[in-house]
Amino acid sequence: MAFALREKNGLSWLESDMLPCRHMFTRRLGGVGDFPYTSQPDPEWQRPERQERVRRLWEALAEAGEFPPQGMCFTRQVHGTRVRYADGSQRCLPPLARRPEDCDGLVTDRPGVPLAVFTADCVPVLLCDVQAGVAAAAHCGWRGTVQDMAGAAVAAMAARGARPERIRAAIGPAISGCCFETGPEVPQAVEELLGPDARGLCPPEEGVPGKFLVDLKEANRRRLLQLGVPAGNIDVCSDCTMCMSDVYWSHRATAGVRGTQASIIML
Ligand SMILES: [Zn+2]
Repeated sequence: MAFALREKNGLSWLESDMLPCRHMFTRRLGGVGDFPYTSQPDPEWQRPERQERVRRLWEALAEAGEFPPQGMCFTRQVHGTRVRYADGSQRCLPPLARRPEDCDGLVTDRPGVPLAVFTADCVPVLLCDVQAGVAAAAHCGWRGTVQDMAGAAVAAMAARGARPERIRAAIGPAISGCCFETGPEVPQAVEELLGPDARGLCPPEEGVPGKFLVDLKEANRRRLLQLGVPAGNIDVCSDCTMCMSDVYWSHRATAGVRGTQASIIML
């Protein structure tokens, strides 16, 4: 399976042929300095002319992705593992009039309800079981990953009729093992999550004592395998947001002055 680059309306995004439903993993949107939405406080973003631009970007994005004009369901991400059920009543387009509820994942069993999560180095995971008619979107930073966000997403899907052996998952662009340097706390937590399956995921960084290079995408893939999702049902994007910070927002590459990628899925 593979990710393919698509472009429309001046926007570019990736799609995985693993997912048999509408979805997109966006890249940097619409040109220099533009971003669709960020959960970070941003005074400039609150200026009226800025809001108008944000609205136009999202309208272009919804049209490009063939999502309904009523809008999408959004998270306010807090690096936790709460998965909120989206029935579609919260659909809207940014700029948002109201702050979304805190959560790092969304699940739905309703057709026509796009679920959006945001990342800029963290791992976006889109999942679906089309036979059960259930989809989910998850934001997995290292904290979410080791707190078992993947498990929370699969459980939320299973509660609505999905079966792990039928779930298809696409793990999107994120900071990769080449760039995600951490202290020892991350490898320790990854090993607590995965047990022996953590082997080889967090090698010590050569020549940098006390530092490790962690492959969070692979950690999430291995966790999905442990949860019963077949290996052949998981697609992993090889793009590293930090290596490719010219086309992706990267929290580390920008020292936090950034926009975010949106990863969106709809039944
Ligand atoms: Zn890299």
